[in-house]
Amino acid sequence: MLLGPVVERSSRFESMKVVVLAGGVGGSRFLRGMRAQLRRTQPDGSVGTSAELTAIVNTGDDLWLAGLRITPDLDTIMYALAGINDTERGWGRVGETERVAGELREWGIGWPWFTLGDLDLSASIARSSWLRDGVPLHEVVERLQARWPEVGVRLLPATDDEVETHVVVDSPDSPGVTTELHFQEWWTRYRASLPALAFVQHGVESATPAPGVLEAIAVADLIVLGPSNPVVSIGTILAIPGLRDAVRATSAPVVGVSPIIGGAVVRGMADACLTAIGVETGAAAVARHYGSRAAGGVLDGWLLDTVDAASAAGLTAEGIETRAVPLWMTDEALSAALAGDVLELAAQLGRTTR
Ligand code: GDP
Ligand code: CA
Repeated sequence: MLLGPVVERSSRFESMKVVVLAGGVGGSRFLRGMRAQLRRTQPDGSVGTSAELTAIVNTGDDLWLAGLRITPDLDTIMYALAGINDTERGWGRVGETERVAGELREWGIGWPWFTLGDLDLSASIARSSWLRDGVPLHEVVERLQARWPEVGVRLLPATDDEVETHVVVDSPDSPGVTTELHFQEWWTRYRASLPALAFVQHGVESATPAPGVLEAIAVADLIVLGPSNPVVSIGTILAIPGLRDAVRATSAPVVGVSPIIGGAVVRGMADACLTAIGVETGAAAVARHYGSRAAGGVLDGWLLDTVDAASAAGLTAEGIETRAVPLWMTDEALSAALAGDVLELAAQLGRTTR
């Protein structure tokens, strides 16, 4: 029987389970695209709240501030998928006010360079209240996102445990002395301008993947390393004991999307993170940093931008099946097209038995 490409694709991906490892901004843009792409292939047009699309989200940027647990990447993704994110500012919720932050500043509570809007604070108050009652983070996330059924993606924190990324830098106050800053302080206050000497993930050794994380990876038809910061987003997720092994062991293809286009970060300051761990800011260098699964790494496939097409053949020869496609996610249609390219490469890679 002859099947046209569209029919073939929709039948193949009908009940496909896709798991995306994600940080905040790059992760949320890609997830919106993947959600749209998968919806096209669903008979009823919906990616349900079931496990068709699961995001395993970085929690290394989380912190306690003003007595509240702040979870930047989880919130960025939740707001973006709910369609209530502030697209102008690039963070937080749309239609925000900052009255509470103004009051807190008068008392010197919190960080003056890290303003949280009133709506944003309310989510953090609810979250902190549940956490203090002993509700684990993955359940807190479920409760928060239940308000917006349109999210349509199962959001899982990589871990329920407190794992916090800190940055070792030369002290800005005492020359010759090194000091540690929480990642958020380094990123937001110093705009990553203090050269990072190292990243330390406090609490990672004793952390365990959140319930559902290993299971989602094991039953997935496709694992995607989203176009997120390879060091402090994807790197921190993979550093949770058991997580990297689960990705390495799954029979599903693992496809990564480069967050680097033409030797530069698209948004943010991921180059400062890559430099600190000795990886060049380049699409091929990041792929080699993740490594081919056949050679002890985590990737079967890799998508880099068309401007980086010259690197594709070399990576493919090294065991990372690479395609050059447009990687700019400037609107949802482009993100969805990129997600389609990921699905296509995954179909070509197929399942393996490991
Ligand atoms: P954060 O937690 O908010 O820093 O966000 P992520 O870790 O998810 O993503 C940060 C990365 O996303 C940066 O390295 C950017 O280069 C990348 N990124 C942002 N927008 C795009 C895009 O349109 N295309 C691609 N390929 N990468 C992007
Ligand atoms: Ca982040």
